[in-house]
Amino acid sequence: TRTPLMAGNWKMNFDHLQSIAFVQKLAWTLKDADHDYAKVEVAVFPPFTDLRSVQTVVDADKLDVVYGGQDLSQHDSGAYTGDISGAFLSKLGCSYALVGHSERRTIHGEDDATCNAKVQAALRHGLTPVLCVGETLEQREATENPAEVSIAQLIAGLEGVADDAELVIAYEPVWAIGTGRVATAEQAQEVCHALRGALAERFGEERAAQIRILYGGSVKPDNVASIMREPDIDGALVGGASLVIDDFAAIVRYRE
Ligand code: 13P
Repeated sequence: TRTPLMAGNWKMNFDHLQSIAFVQKLAWTLKDADHDYAKVEVAVFPPFTDLRSVQTVVDADKLDVVYGGQDLSQHDSGAYTGDISGAFLSKLGCSYALVGHSERRTIHGEDDATCNAKVQAALRHGLTPVLCVGETLEQREATENPAEVSIAQLIAGLEGVADDAELVIAYEPVWAIGTGRVATAEQAQEVCHALRGALAERFGEERAAQIRILYGGSVKPDNVASIMREPDIDGALVGGASLVIDDFAAIVRYRE
C-alpha cells in the first residue's frame, strides 16, 4: 500500500527567514494534532535560497517534514549560470525534486526531453523525482481522451529510467492550477488511473501499484477528502493552500 504524500509547492514565495518560521509552525501545528508522519508523509518545496535554512530547522528540531527542490539542472556541474545541480540538493538533505512543473514547461520552455534529462539527473543524485504532467484547457478540449497529453508526457519523461527507480508522479491539469477551478474527483481519478495503466505497461503491474500519483490544482481543505477517496490518487501537490499553515495542516490531516 502506498503512503499518502502531501506536498507543498511554495513556488516563488517565502524568503529564507519566512521559511524557518513557516516550517517550525507547521511542525508544531501537526505535533499538537498528534500527526503520524508514517501515515501521511509531509513534504515542502521551498525556493532554492531557503533550502539551507529549512535543513537547519529540520535537523535541529528533528522534524519528520521532508523537503525538495522545485527544479534542478539536468547537468551535474559546469558553466550553467543560474542553474542548480541535483548534487547540491542532495547535499542539503533534499529527498525530492520537482521536474516539469507546468510553470517550468510554459514559462521556461522545458520540453519532454529536458524533463527526461532532469528526471535522470535527480535519480543520479539520489533524489526522488516528482514528475509533473497535465494538459491545458485547450488540449483537454481538443481530444476525446483527457489522459492523452499526460500519458505522452509521462512516457517521454521516463525514457531510459530503470524499472526500480524511486518515482512520484503528479497530475496537474494546467487549467486547475491557481484558478480555483479544481478538477472533480472523477476527472482527477480518470487521468490518474490512466497514468497508472501507463506505468504498468512501462514497469509492470507490481511496480506501478507502488508508485505514488499525486493530484495538484486548487487543492484546499474542503476538497482534499473527496480527491483522496479516489483509488489512484495518493496525495496532493498543493500551491496556494500550502502557504497557509492551518490550510496545509488541514490538508495533511484530511482523514480527521
Ligand atoms: P494551486 O494549488 O495554487 O492551484 O497550485 C497547484 C500547483 O501548481 C502545485 O504545484
